[in-house]
Formats: sequence, C-alpha cells, structure tokens
Amino acid sequence: MECEPMEINPRKIPLFSAALVNQGVDLAGAVSRVLASNSFVMGNEVAKFESEFASYTGVTHCVSVANGTDALELALRALNLQPGDKVACVANAGFYSATAVHLAGGVPLYVDVDEHTLTMSPEALAQALRDKPAAVIATHLYGQLAPIERLVELCRSAGVPLIEDCAQSHGASRNGRRAGCFGDLSCFSFYPTKNLGALGDGGAVLTASDALATRLKGLRQYGWSKKYEVSLLGGCNSRLDEMQAAVLREKLPLLERHNAWRRAIAARYNSAFAGLPLRLPASVAADFVAHLYVIRTPKRESLRAYLAESGVATDVHYPIVDIRQPAVAACYAGTFLPVSEEACATAMSLPCYPGMPDEDVEQVVRSVLAFFSRAEA
Ligand SMILES: *Cc1c(COP(=O)(O)O)cnc(C)c1O
Repeated sequence: MECEPMEINPRKIPLFSAALVNQGVDLAGAVSRVLASNSFVMGNEVAKFESEFASYTGVTHCVSVANGTDALELALRALNLQPGDKVACVANAGFYSATAVHLAGGVPLYVDVDEHTLTMSPEALAQALRDKPAAVIATHLYGQLAPIERLVELCRSAGVPLIEDCAQSHGASRNGRRAGCFGDLSCFSFYPTKNLGALGDGGAVLTASDALATRLKGLRQYGWSKKYEVSLLGGCNSRLDEMQAAVLREKLPLLERHNAWRRAIAARYNSAFAGLPLRLPASVAADFVAHLYVIRTPKRESLRAYLAESGVATDVHYPIVDIRQPAVAACYAGTFLPVSEEACATAMSLPCYPGMPDEDVEQVVRSVLAFFSRAEA
C-alpha cells in the first residue's frame, strides 16, 4: 500500500519568536547604559526615544506611556471625554478600544469593517456619525492601514476628533505618510510581539497639537503641570521606563528592515495560497506591515488542527467579536455587524515575524497546501 510520506518529528514552528526577532540587537548594551545612568524613570532614554519615534513617524509630539491600552485611554481623556459619551470604534480588534473607552467613562459605538481590509468601513462610519460620537478610534488592524484619509475627511466634516490605533501598524505608510500622522492623536503599543516591541510593556500617544501634548504629559503623571503641582484631575501613573526606552532606541533603527521581512513572508504566503479557497490579506505593499498574517476560511478549526499536527503553531485574532463578549453581550443582543462577525468566525493567523527561518516559511506553505490537497478538505 502506498502511503503519504509522514514527517515523524516535524520541526515545531512557533507563531512568534522574541529570541529570533531580537537576534543581533544590543539589548545588554541598552540595559547597561541605563544601569550606568542610575536613572530609571523619565530620564534621558525616554526623552530621546520620544523625539526619535516622533520624528520617525512624522508627528511633532510623542508622549510615552506604560502600555497601548493606557495610550488609548489617555488619548480619550486628553480629548476631555465626558461620562456616557459615545466613541465610534470597530468590534473585530480584540476589545482593546472598548477597554479604553470604558475606562475613560465612555460607551463604544460599534462600526462594521470593510470585508477586504477588515478595517473601519467609511460607509459604516458615515452612518455612525449621525449618532454624534464624541470621538472615533480607527484601528489599523494586522498592520493594514485603514482607509484613513477617507475616515479623516468624514470626521473633519462632522467636527469629531479621530484617534488612530497604531498598536499593530508601526511604520505602515501610504503616499509617504506613516500610520500615526493622520489623526488628531495616535496610539502605539510596544508590547514585545508588536512590530516595534520592548522587553515588557510600553506605549505612546503622538499628536501634532501642543495643547493635547501638554494635557497628555500631565495625565500620564498624576495630573502634574510640574513636580508636585496638580493642575489636572483624572491623572494617573502611566510612564514608560528607561530600560524599555533604551531597548526601543536600539530597535527603532531596525523597524524598516523588520517590516520588510514581515511583508516578504506575507507576499510569499499570498502567492503560494493564491489558488486556494482562502481570503488572503488585501495588500502586501507599503500600507501593510504584516503585524499578523491572517487568512480567513470556514474550515478554520480543521485547518488549525491539521497544522498543529504538522508542528505549525497558529492562533485566532480575534475569536470573539466585541458585541458577543460575555461581559457586554446582553447589551448588544439586537446589534449585528455582519462583516466583523464573519471575520471573527473565520480568521486565523499563521507564523510571520522578522527572523523567521526560510525553511519554516516553506514548511508552513507545504502544510497549508497539503491540507487543501486532501480529498476531505
Ligand atoms: C496590543 C494592542 C493594544 C493594547 O496594547 P497593550 O500595550 O497590550 O495595552 C491596543 N490595540 C491594538 C490594536 C493592539 O493590537
């Protein structure tokens, strides 16, 4: 009897490897610089990182904070969100926007996404703006720039401030403008798996507005206008520390190369999978930095099981659409977001990160092709 050749002990391919991403980065040098300075919070490294990241992104001010969720919350507080204010956001992006909206005292106003890019649909936003949200958060999901110029235009004509959630899109650009320079404020996370990742938590809010930057600097540190002088209520302690800032300064110069590496893997997958019954990422151009390589298929569960057996790790970003999360589902029983719901039911992520060995990429390709070539697939 003829058998398909079986790999007895297939290589284990992780979804992400911090060790490979950080290979060759002088992390020890960054840490010793901080140890030698004896300054651990809000020192030289933070100041330098803020100015380097602001200039990389092309925005005047960068106010670093403790993580990406704080960045979103403080951006909303900087806009002076009032209790009960609505904030338009998407529902297919892991509940991060909603977490920040709830923390800031607001209420999410969910807007469906475009079926190709899975980012906020301008048509759906135009509808939602009739409900007079106090702000809009647009998420550049999986590294794909949203149709941000059109979203900005809609918000400007409605007089509603726009926040970009760039936690997955550091460096993504369209017509030479990078994610984070379109909105009134933009929020970043430097969680280790992000395109620009620290060795722990970190975040930042960027803005061209002097007034918003001043408010953010107060809000991140007890509401201080200067040391021990509290001029703003609603402040908190949300600071990036010197170690993380020093690490981020080592990694920022590599971001373009890292993004190109991610994009090359995504392009390889897109061409290998072109004939398969799968929805693939819409772009592998500059407007996509492949934070995650996400395919969509109704056969998600069987494909994931097959890949797991072949040693290929996968994950689902994100399995539960915001409006069906147990904590809030009762409030949204009559709300339907067809595209977002479909995406959450069919999306799955394949390994894609800078430093991923070519042979791993090829094994992922072979395994996906093998799944679809089986009779039962
Ligand atoms: C990671 C992420 C966040 C939250 O960032 P943290 O640093 O983990 O708080 C927010 N929005 C999006 C889209 C993210 O991917």
